[in-house]
Amino acid sequence: MCGIIGVIGHNKVSSLLIEGLKRLEYRGYDSAGIATLLNGKIDRRRSLGKIENLKKLLKKSPIKGNVGIGHTRWATHGIPSRINAHPHSSGDVAVVHNGIIENSNSIKNELIKKNYLFKSQTDTEVITQLLTNYLKNYDILDSVHKTLERLEGSFALGIIFKNFKDIVVGARRGSPLAVGYGHEENYIGSDSYALKSMTNKISYLEDGEICILTKDKVEFYNSEKNKINKEI
Ligand code: GLU
Repeated sequence: MCGIIGVIGHNKVSSLLIEGLKRLEYRGYDSAGIATLLNGKIDRRRSLGKIENLKKLLKKSPIKGNVGIGHTRWATHGIPSRINAHPHSSGDVAVVHNGIIENSNSIKNELIKKNYLFKSQTDTEVITQLLTNYLKNYDILDSVHKTLERLEGSFALGIIFKNFKDIVVGARRGSPLAVGYGHEENYIGSDSYALKSMTNKISYLEDGEICILTKDKVEFYNSEKNKINKEI
């Protein structure tokens, strides 16, 4: 079990992402990484081992952006390494994932036939590439929904998009995901503890649900893509 964090706001988010990841350390992990969006580009830093290594990397090579996601990984598919560390990115989207995609091999083979390239050994990268493929023809909600329909297994996801700079998407089936509400800033996290220093206003995603965060609001959708309300 390991961790996801996501932040969208009006300030630089990298230190909040690290703070959230530090709070998820108790779950155990083998590598860590963050991705942000700046000037229409996804930027990533990932490192093997402790979050301290990631912090050192960020000190040497800082990362800007008001929208970002972070991850601590516990490898299930592929060795612990920097290349296998999350976020995984196609350039169009970056994805963090907790859980296991059971049918990743068959999806991977299908996408390789469509000329998609895979850089890691992870099951997660199929989510990144599937989503990239659907985004060519569908909007964000439909693309995420279609992607989730293809996945067998368990997941909590955090996603950012190159072409939609004001959005973080979360989704879950089988792995937990919390949503936190701040002042002109909203969050996702594996649990409320990860978000403790940012907010005490929390909702929880149920299986099959999707959330779309902007800095001012959070929208929730059920597995039929109907908009739903959540208690805070
Ligand atoms: N199955 C994914 C991987 O091996 C995610 C593991 C996790 O939950 O951290 O990269």
